[in-house]
Amino acid sequence: MTHDDERLLRRAIELAASARAAGNPPFGSLLAASDGTILVEERNTSLTDRDITAHPELKLARWAARELDPATAATTTMYTSCQPCGMCAGAIARSGLGRVVYALSGEQLDGLKPPGSAFADPPTEGPALYDEARVPVEGYYV
Ligand SMILES: [Zn+2]
Repeated sequence: MTHDDERLLRRAIELAASARAAGNPPFGSLLAASDGTILVEERNTSLTDRDITAHPELKLARWAARELDPATAATTTMYTSCQPCGMCAGAIARSGLGRVVYALSGEQLDGLKPPGSAFADPPTEGPALYDEARVPVEGYYV
């Protein structure tokens, strides 16, 4: 991790503090170009927006996929105050960002939460109805 990485990571931590000050969960992220220029910043707004997907990492991944061509997206780095959750990690992978640098790990975050506050996965069933479900998919990925 370079000095510039630490500078940008500290900015993400400042964004996390400002999210908390605004009444939201304490997470912040930014996207930087390869020369360290900040392209866009985001804060968690999941409480004030009443939107469970309003994580800063997801907002940045969506912004990159919408506003950057794939070659440019691949040169960017996301700096984020905490390791992206599963939802955001999936969006980041789909957005084509080049790199992610985070401060707190998910495990470290869990250590700062009260016991039993983790999200529980609902029961799931499947796969099922393969012959029917494959019809709209076959031939799409060619
Ligand atoms: Zn997330």
